[in-house]
Amino acid sequence: MSTATLFSYASDLGAVLLLALGLKGLSKVRSARSANGLAALAMGLAVVGLLIQQSLSLEAWLWIGVGTAIGGLAGVITAQRVPMTAMPETVALFNGCGGMASLLVAVAVALFQSSGADLVALISIVISVFVGAITFSGSVVAMGKLQGWIATPGWTQSQLRHAVNISLAVACLVAGIGLPSDPAGLPLWILVVASSLLGIGVTLPIGGADMPVVISLLNSYSGVAAAAAGFVVGSQLLIVAGAMVGAAGLILTQVMCTAMNRSLVSVLFGGALGGAAPVGGGGDEAGYTRITSCSPEECAMALETAERVVFVPGYGLAVAQAQHTLRELAKLLEANGAEVSYAIHPVAGRMPGHMNVLLAEADVPYEQLLEMDTINPDFPRTDVVIVLGANDVVNPDAKSDPTSPLFGMPVLEVDQARQVFVVKRSLGAGYAGIKNALFELPQTAMVFGDAKAVLAGLVSELRELGVGKKTPTAV
Ligand code: NAP
Repeated sequence: MSTATLFSYASDLGAVLLLALGLKGLSKVRSARSANGLAALAMGLAVVGLLIQQSLSLEAWLWIGVGTAIGGLAGVITAQRVPMTAMPETVALFNGCGGMASLLVAVAVALFQSSGADLVALISIVISVFVGAITFSGSVVAMGKLQGWIATPGWTQSQLRHAVNISLAVACLVAGIGLPSDPAGLPLWILVVASSLLGIGVTLPIGGADMPVVISLLNSYSGVAAAAAGFVVGSQLLIVAGAMVGAAGLILTQVMCTAMNRSLVSVLFGGALGGAAPVGGGGDEAGYTRITSCSPEECAMALETAERVVFVPGYGLAVAQAQHTLRELAKLLEANGAEVSYAIHPVAGRMPGHMNVLLAEADVPYEQLLEMDTINPDFPRTDVVIVLGANDVVNPDAKSDPTSPLFGMPVLEVDQARQVFVVKRSLGAGYAGIKNALFELPQTAMVFGDAKAVLAGLVSELRELGVGKKTPTAV
């Protein structure tokens, strides 16, 4: 065995181990950043190992160098420019790139290297093209919907979409069966086009609060497409890495479905949760009749005497980038003797773990972040709840109104608390585009304004009241 092959085996093994460690580390906020680094190192090692094993010409090295430079530059610029609030769109785009890469590899092999290929390789080409194309087009649509560029067309909410999607699936099946006998011919192109349209057809109807499930499912697909591409090019490393991404994405999809009390089948084939509402907010301010609003000063007075305070962060907190001001307020309240915690809903914000990451940026102690199942029983003994730019995840209709599009999704039961202040800029809807019954409850008061400005106002009001200077009363 040559030294190059030996090195390649060693780098493959090292890459797989690092990737597994990286995935494990991603399950905890504290280790997530270094885990990401490990996974990136794994990919680097895998690429270097593979390149060294090939006896590449100078021209090939040149192409690889140019491709790496362009891709690397695009990655660096994206990473620096994309705000946290646009991460779901970025993740959708990355999933799409993964799908497209697998698609291109499979098409290239089908066109140029398929003569004499065995049936397993040809079936792998079919799977890689099919899943890769669906992942690519579906991810582009998902990104467009999250950005608010693409609306949910009315026809996709009718039975017509099932007819369209079934026809496309049949076309994919026929082309897939025909491909092994003519790998570089018409079936290949029919498969590419029909699978791409199927990706659009399946993703287009999904909207409202179901989008997180779609993103994680597409993430899983990108792994399946990569694993299939691994079979196509005979790369064990790609098979293992793709399988890991596919499995991790599937687990995340299951977690998101459970968090929203939705089955995967109802997400993919049922009506859109939140209907065809414009994704990303908007909504109607009319329709509220019993709204009580108050100033930061009044809210500060309630906080001054509160013994137990729960903050509920949502997407608006991320938009306002108010996490540091929130931490400042929490420290003041703690200095005043209050018990402070943060209620974390699994789909708050716009990506899994969004609120955990946001609050970790402000060094909020991890043990103060309480998950929905832990915090819900505590709301009845909570003096003050401050809802910060959250909307759908605190909508009580999800529990009580069977006609609500959110019905069935577990929510943070803040309506059980003694007093609730909702900080947001208007009466506008959240992601699902629907009214929130919480705003009209007698114990709720709206504090209108940007979350950061309101929190800064609360901090200065509390300081004026002398909070933070007093010694907390012994309990
Ligand atoms: P939400 O329901 O989208 O509501 C966010 C609220 O923040 C809006 O009502 C908005 O009201 C307010 N807001 C925006 N900017 C603000 C600012 N600068 N200051 C104060 N408030 C501001 O958010 P959520 O309660 O966190 O729920 C998340 C939703 O997104 C769920 O429906 C979930 O299914 C969906 N989703 C989640 C993910 C995920 O993976 N976590 C991914 C995609 C979608 P105003 O405009 O009146 O200020």
